Amino acid sequence: MFKDWLMGFVTGFATTFKHLFRRPVTEQYPEYQRTLPVRSRARIILTRDPDGEERCVACYLCSAVCPVSCISMQSGQREDGRRYPRWFRINFARCIYCGFCEEACPTLAIQLTPHFETCERDVLNLVAEKENLLVNHGGKNPDYNFYRHAGVTMVGDKGTHVNEIEPVDLKSNLP
Ligand code: SF4
Ligand code: SF4
Repeated sequence: MFKDWLMGFVTGFATTFKHLFRRPVTEQYPEYQRTLPVRSRARIILTRDPDGEERCVACYLCSAVCPVSCISMQSGQREDGRRYPRWFRINFARCIYCGFCEEACPTLAIQLTPHFETCERDVLNLVAEKENLLVNHGGKNPDYNFYRHAGVTMVGDKGTHVNEIEPVDLKSNLP
């Protein structure tokens, strides 16, 4: 009994003394700010394609998949037929930074960034409009251009478009 007590006592103090002589690991935030991985999920942005055009085609997929319904928009169409959001709104007061919107987006327009310092005293300041979300770069995928893969008139034979595979001859699959 006394032996067990002594062993616990000695082991506990050994751990204490071990940490007494280690360098502290406290990070003095906000003076020191750790660089977070690019995949970190915080402040959301709307990105542009390499041509400088808005990537968002107002397909509503992000808004449909959002579990807390904090994304809303209204679609519009340009004279050349390209769709865009007339307005696009995210209520960051409700956002849980799950990243589902980014996963659902077919054009890689909506992206979460590592910028987490978004606190506001007035909750209404957490409602971001398109002008607060749209940036002048492509975010994590600067080279991707949705309109070079989809939404364009095909020129040439089937299977010759960007990343398109040769069509399968169904009759050749017969047993
Ligand atoms: S990160 Fe999640 S909660 Fe936030 S807007 Fe996207 S889907 Fe909605
Ligand atoms: S951000 Fe992406 S998923 Fe959301 S409406 Fe625009 S294109 Fe569609």
